[in-house]
Amino acid sequence: MLNIVIFGAPGSGKGTQSEKIIEEYGVDHISTGDVLREEIKKGTELGKLAVSYIDEGNFIPDSLMIKILASVLDAKGKDIKGVIFDGFPRTIQQAYALDKMLSDRGESVSIVIGLEVDDDELIHRIVLRGRTSGRADDNAHTAKHRLENYHSQTQPLKKFYINAGKYASIPGVGDIDEIFSHIKKAIDAVK
Ligand code: AMP
Repeated sequence: MLNIVIFGAPGSGKGTQSEKIIEEYGVDHISTGDVLREEIKKGTELGKLAVSYIDEGNFIPDSLMIKILASVLDAKGKDIKGVIFDGFPRTIQQAYALDKMLSDRGESVSIVIGLEVDDDELIHRIVLRGRTSGRADDNAHTAKHRLENYHSQTQPLKKFYINAGKYASIPGVGDIDEIFSHIKKAIDAVK
């Protein structure tokens, strides 16, 4: 199976590039942000719990997030070409949990696609996206807090995956198709 982690700050283009990866490689998509937003829309207990974290730009606690990911992954069954993990892992604990979940299935992370975009551009993109996304967390104030959390809790994962020999650094600014061509080269090298 092709197990891709798409990695980067909020606004780095993970969702956009995930769509192109899915189209090219036929893998399944797990976006933890989308899963949570769906639960909020449906008004489930999980949604009610998640909304306060998300709207403030904070992370959902690891133990809960790991359980959610495990159940979404289980629901996919075994008959899939692979998965693109979008928005997970966001902490070292989640990265260890993902390794464990995959190894229990005889699988592993194939590659981590790291989209590199500087903070000013990220804030600009998030504020622009906020005009149409309807997301309460897409505004300048919350975006800054989300970026702080990204730098303190998520960015250390870059080193974790570099040390594992799995990190592909991709410049995330410029033409969408050109960015994708770099991603495709990196994925084809491990396929
Ligand atoms: P995203 O759509 O990936 O930007 O996620 C939106 C929000 O959902 C984040 O700012 C977090 O509040 C929450 N979230 C999504 N994925 C995770 C995760 N792996 N761990 C903790 N919180 C998450």
